[in-house]
Amino acid sequence: MTVSAGRKVCTKCKRNLKETDFFKLKTGERCDLCKDCLTQYIDNRKPSTFM
Ligand SMILES: [Zn+2]
Repeated sequence: MTVSAGRKVCTKCKRNLKETDFFKLKTGERCDLCKDCLTQYIDNRKPSTFM
């Protein structure tokens, strides 16, 4: 499976998006969920526990 540089597939919605559509972690890696999915995910959980 090849993923072009600068792009990443969201593990939840399976969309192939630009890396900038993913939040960057403190480690420098990108989150596995895109911003849309992560936002929904956090809303369903506890927003205060994130960041
Ligand atoms: Zn997604």
